Amino acid sequence: MNCPKCKSNMKVIKIRGYEIDRCQNCKGIWFDHMECDELSLLDNPEFVDVGDSRVGQRFNKIDKIECPTCKTPLGRLSPEDQPEIIYEACSTCKGIFFDAGEYRDFLKSAGTISFKNLRP
Ligand SMILES: [Zn+2]
Ligand SMILES: [Zn+2]
Repeated sequence: MNCPKCKSNMKVIKIRGYEIDRCQNCKGIWFDHMECDELSLLDNPEFVDVGDSRVGQRFNKIDKIECPTCKTPLGRLSPEDQPEIIYEACSTCKGIFFDAGEYRDFLKSAGTISFKNLRP
């Protein structure tokens, strides 16, 4: 799979039965449907997010991207209590892309993923 933002190869990271795709260049993370919520309940899930948040902020500006799985244009979402975090989500397959550092920030609050405010 290629990164929806920088087109580099994504590497499959296996943790506790989950397979998360992480970009080898920008360190963005792709979660398939529900993986994000389920992983967030485990101990220390932030270790999958190894990237530099300054790099993540740069890539956060790239927003016209399509789903690496089903090619639907991704919409942008924020957790309800964390409007500063903007991640990309697919309305079709419910996959989610976090830029480097965004998943760590997301975990700092009890944020949950909701697709109801997804804007194309
Ligand atoms: Zn990338
Ligand atoms: Zn999709």
